[in-house]
Amino acid sequence: MNASAPRAAVRGLARELLELVAPSVCPACDTPRRPGQSLLCAPCRDGLKEMRALGAVRTGVAYEGVGRRLVRRFKFDGRGDALAVLLPYLLDRVEPLPAQAVVGVPRHRRRVRETGADPVHDLARRVARARGLPHWRAALVRSRPTPTQSGLSPAERRRNVAGAFSAGHPGLAGARVLLLDDVATTGATLAEAAAALRAAGARRVWRAALAGTP
Ligand SMILES: [Zn+2]
Repeated sequence: MNASAPRAAVRGLARELLELVAPSVCPACDTPRRPGQSLLCAPCRDGLKEMRALGAVRTGVAYEGVGRRLVRRFKFDGRGDALAVLLPYLLDRVEPLPAQAVVGVPRHRRRVRETGADPVHDLARRVARARGLPHWRAALVRSRPTPTQSGLSPAERRRNVAGAFSAGHPGLAGARVLLLDDVATTGATLAEAAAALRAAGARRVWRAALAGTP
C-alpha cells in the first residue's frame, strides 16, 4: 500500500477542519479572506437581509440575494462555512423557546439516496447540539415523495404536501418540539409536518427555517 495515501487523506482532513474554523474565502462569493476578518466579506455582509418571521414560522434571513446564495451553497454543495454564517440568525430566533427536542423536516429516502445528503437533518443536529437538546431524527418520515414546491401556488403547495408525513417517537406524547426546515416559502411544508407531529401526540410544535421567502 502506498504510505503517502493516508497521509494525503490526513492533510485533506486537516485542510477541511481548518476551513471550518477559519474559512479562507467568503462563504457567499469565494473572495479570498484575510484571517481575523469577519466570515462574510463587506459587500456580502451588506447584502444579507435578516428576516424574523414568515407568518407563524420563525426565520433567520431573507431567501434572496446573499441569503439565498448561502442557503443554496449549504443545501446543494454541503458548504459548512455557509451554514456557519446562517446558523446564528436561526439560533437567535429559537433561543427563547422551551422546546424539549429538535426535529427536521425529512426528505424522502429516495431523494437522500440520490443526492447522498440530508441537509435539514444536518441543520437539526447542529441546532440540537447548540441548544443542548436531543435530535429526534426518526420522529418524522416523509411517507411519499412529493414533487418540488417551486412554481406552485400556495393552494397547490398545500395539496402537494397533504398527508406526506407520518410521525412517531416514544417521546412525542405531550412533547414540545422545535421543527426545522431550510427554506420556508409559504410555510405549507412546515405546517403539514407540524400537523403530523401533533397528530402523533406532540403538545406544542414551533416552526422555524434558516431562511424565508420575502
Ligand atoms: Zn462575499
